[in-house]
Amino acid sequence: MIFVDMQGRKVPALGYGTWDLRGADCERAVPMAIELGYRHIDTAQSYENEAEVGRGWVASGLPRGDLFITTKIARVVGGDVTGNSAKHVARGVEESLRKLRTDYVDLLLVHWPSPDVPMAETLEAMERLKSAGKVRALGVSNFTVAHMREAVKLAKSPVACNQIEYHLLLSQRPVIGFAREHGIALTAYCPLARGRFMDNPVVLRVAKKHGKTANQVGLRWLLEQPGVLAIPKAGSLPHARENISIFDFALDADDRRALDALPGNTRLVSPGWAPKWDAA
Ligand code: NAP
Repeated sequence: MIFVDMQGRKVPALGYGTWDLRGADCERAVPMAIELGYRHIDTAQSYENEAEVGRGWVASGLPRGDLFITTKIARVVGGDVTGNSAKHVARGVEESLRKLRTDYVDLLLVHWPSPDVPMAETLEAMERLKSAGKVRALGVSNFTVAHMREAVKLAKSPVACNQIEYHLLLSQRPVIGFAREHGIALTAYCPLARGRFMDNPVVLRVAKKHGKTANQVGLRWLLEQPGVLAIPKAGSLPHARENISIFDFALDADDRRALDALPGNTRLVSPGWAPKWDAA
């Protein structure tokens, strides 16, 4: 495993994404991932699977302290677009903790910036949870450079992380530049671009050279960058195993040159409430 320093905490850089894993599938997948060696699980209030993640990790028998759990505050809750409000943050996190069967989460993220709720209100509510020991670190997701700048100015404790779409086909240079400057870790979501580079000849050439798959190369490319984590989702055992079998090879300068030159403008996640993104 590679670890990223997140405000003094050693966090496993490869995590397990759970979007779209629901019900029994999720409850089965979480202990499977833990058995394979994953120690970092990503969920969110809006994934509607926190209870299954909770039951899953408890069933695995792993001590709570050995697991890093991230959840995210929903921006849209049952059609209520004030999901980032102080009231919702406090209530929502109590519910998350109950569902996740834990008395703290390692990382709490604002899932999406809100045009309706002042960022200061959301961050203050999160700070209160941190002071109460219910949250270990605070972060954001889908924040542009402008949002990050505002968050850094407003937050009392450090912004530990920005979780963004990041993969071989989306370069994200402005956000990465700002995050590095301010010691903010970046968690790459959709790190496999949901299969979009599996057949890319450049990626396949690098993969063949190392006896690996294109997805493994894509994950390695992310984790070899300082301060970058990745949370691929894999419901099936072969995929979950493949994604964690990336710690026995390394990319060289030629590989990186070829991979860095791939066109970096493929964005897969941009719902109606997304902010105006920075140029790729
Ligand atoms: P992804 O991880 O890029 O791709 C997941 C897809 O790839 C699944 O269909 C999975 O299939 C397949 N897959 C996984 N490993 C594979 C392998 N080795 N070979 C072939 N196919 C493979 O996309 P994602 O799930 O959208 O993103 C990952 C995680 O990021 C999410 O689960 C979620 O936790 C987080 N996320 C966060 C946000 C946000 O707004 N913060 C947005 C999107 C996602 P199987 O499941 O069948 O194995």
